[in-house]
Amino acid sequence: MRKKQYRLHQSDLSSLLENLRRRGYQPYGPQRRDHAIEWLPLDGIHQLPAGWTTTTAPATYRMQERSDQALFGYWTGPDSLKKLLHPPEACLLKAEYNGGVRFVRQAPAEVKRAFIGVRACDLAAVAALDRVLLSDRWVDDIYQANRNGALLIAVNCTSSAPTCFCASMGSGPRARSGYDIALTERVGDGSSEFLAEPGSEAGASILEELTALAAPAGWEKEAEESCQSAAAAQTRAVDASSAPAVIDRTFDHPRWDQTARRCLACGNCTSVCPTCFCVNIEERNALDLRSAERLRVWDSCFTQAFTYIHGGSIRTTPKSRYRQWLSHKLARWQEQFGMPGCTGCGRCIAWCPAGIDITEEMAALEASSGSTYPTGVSTHGN
Ligand code: SF4
Ligand code: SF4
Repeated sequence: MRKKQYRLHQSDLSSLLENLRRRGYQPYGPQRRDHAIEWLPLDGIHQLPAGWTTTTAPATYRMQERSDQALFGYWTGPDSLKKLLHPPEACLLKAEYNGGVRFVRQAPAEVKRAFIGVRACDLAAVAALDRVLLSDRWVDDIYQANRNGALLIAVNCTSSAPTCFCASMGSGPRARSGYDIALTERVGDGSSEFLAEPGSEAGASILEELTALAAPAGWEKEAEESCQSAAAAQTRAVDASSAPAVIDRTFDHPRWDQTARRCLACGNCTSVCPTCFCVNIEERNALDLRSAERLRVWDSCFTQAFTYIHGGSIRTTPKSRYRQWLSHKLARWQEQFGMPGCTGCGRCIAWCPAGIDITEEMAALEASSGSTYPTGVSTHGN
């Protein structure tokens, strides 16, 4: 049976926020801060970035004013839901010295947060994190506590940024699953209306309580067509199905050396990537030595210390680290988790200070992969 679809006016978003708060959720939304779009607690819809857009290109991210007042007329910024569901820093254990030493485990508490404005590629990123952190051999209790309390309100992309390639990765521009409510913005003269579609029982119940009108006939078709034209406008692409074979055939390709000469091994690409999940453990002592904390912090496969084992690092060069990162994203991840580790969000392209572009790298490898390189070569070494 076809799901009921609703017509929300911009002012209905305020009722939506109230409804979410009544249900115990802290709303979060995209906001303009420090010349970028960031996920922050949302007190009112006046905090959404009305009238702003973003322009992206390799090594470029800029905010610009739009000619209209679209609330969601920008694309992905440097952070993603990873920051809130799998935080950059989490305390695992505290130790206190007061004559004797007392250890206190920091059990994660479930927090209820509603995220408004999640793009289709970032829903796919949450599905990827779910696969790794909830559905593998062990469950990450910090992620689980955050994820259990998350309500996801998607916003479909009716246009694409130059760095987007979600269409080729099958993750966008339209949200197909993984959301509680999906909105499609229809920008009007000074304010917007939204097609609202429920994706879960919670989403359906929220929309019912808003007592919104049914969406006019034709809105759903228009939304689909807008998303399709956004997909058609994407100029970047990756063929994830052929990527593992291409990467295995090109282990010694000179392209890795060329890219390594540009790569700064800064790790920006892993920080902004919504699916990179690697962590390290750090101990921090108070200066008076009366307390200490064990922290879990984001790590990056671009650091030399990442593969340090008894006396040395396995990947000593930027070449081996870049090759490991790209191989993991597009090949090894598929073997491990049955899905690519890339959603085509384009963040790593915009936020790489050297302008290294994962789609260009794959295209270069693919173009000359031929039969020059042996298949089945391990990509785990230097
Ligand atoms: S590898 Fe790049 S394009 Fe793919 S999900 Fe990560 S940041 Fe986005
Ligand atoms: S690919 Fe770019 S963002 Fe990633 S480590 Fe190298 S220079 Fe930094």
